Amino acid sequence: MTEDELKQFKAALSITAVAADLGVPLVRGRCRCFFPQRHSHNDRTPSVSFSEERGTFRCWVCDDVRGDVISLVQIVKNCSFVEALNWLKETYHFLLPGNSRAANRPEARVASNSGRPVPNPPAQGNAVASRVAVRDAERDAALEYHSPEPVKELVSEDERKKIILSFLKMLSPVDKTPAAAYLARRRIYKPIWDKMLLRTITDYGALNNKLKETYDLEVLKYVGLFSEKGNLRYYKHPLFFPYLDAKRRSFYFQARAIDSTVVPKELNLRGTVPYPYNVSALDQRPGWVYLCEGVVDTLTFLGQGIAAIGIPGVRSFKTEWLPLFKNKSVVLCLDKDEAGRSGTEYLQSVFAQSGIRTVVLGEGLESLNSSMKEGDDINSWFGGKK
Ligand SMILES: [Zn+2]
Repeated sequence: MTEDELKQFKAALSITAVAADLGVPLVRGRCRCFFPQRHSHNDRTPSVSFSEERGTFRCWVCDDVRGDVISLVQIVKNCSFVEALNWLKETYHFLLPGNSRAANRPEARVASNSGRPVPNPPAQGNAVASRVAVRDAERDAALEYHSPEPVKELVSEDERKKIILSFLKMLSPVDKTPAAAYLARRRIYKPIWDKMLLRTITDYGALNNKLKETYDLEVLKYVGLFSEKGNLRYYKHPLFFPYLDAKRRSFYFQARAIDSTVVPKELNLRGTVPYPYNVSALDQRPGWVYLCEGVVDTLTFLGQGIAAIGIPGVRSFKTEWLPLFKNKSVVLCLDKDEAGRSGTEYLQSVFAQSGIRTVVLGEGLESLNSSMKEGDDINSWFGGKK
């Protein structure tokens, strides 16, 4: 089986149908993690979600629980890639590329109520040839499949940081731009723009050209600034939130769309999030810090004079950041949706294991008579010590 055939085969499989056949019960596209012991309450609230469209699954807690339909079989059956592929080929032999019988037989579709149409395999002129092809493909599957080459390091990590820094320096302050209007509508004003060095793209074409003149295109792609097509990625995401470190330098950022119809709203720079947004709030002095999902929420808190940090999503929280939280207590301010609630549960257990106190924003507040005054007395109000 060549790589192209493998791609075709994978595209013909419905990942939710395969999950069902593996005995993994999905409820609204989710299931409990295969490693419940890593979760609080044995993953009572299912953490693994499936994307039928992309043919992928992922657990938001376990970094290693994710992948395509083959990884799913590997994890559930605890087997190798080749064994997983062989199981899929045996179970869904009628979907193998080159199997012309698959085209017009309704029963050849993956039996599933998932409703995903299975694309027709490419037309084959010669049935005998295609049967031979299937046999050959099966025999050679293990031999011919090559996993993608690991990406070669085009520039050193130091060089990469320098490029990101110089890119951020090419951007404009947000003052008097559409980005400023967007921020003001969210009650985020100039003192915060300046404090957090918010930046924007005012002339996409000029910036695109300037970058191409300054750096090799392959390098720009490699560091994640440019798309595979060879253009600056942020055509629809003109507002930039640099992740400043304690010295107000930044090697990481998030770009944001200011047009509400753009999906996704945010583009993170490729690579790992080095530390939470506004990490300088984690100053090792006793006190409370608000942990928000997303930069915009964080900025809103900062505008109110409240110490806040942001993570791009619950999944992006890294346990190696825990030492940064020394002497802090944490107010968890995640979204009040399903993912936010499970995320809150997860972070509560992670912080508790490290002896870091947490409260959940809005929880138990109703029973208190005194209302929270903005900013100045947050610490005492929560019973923390300055
Ligand atoms: Zn998990």
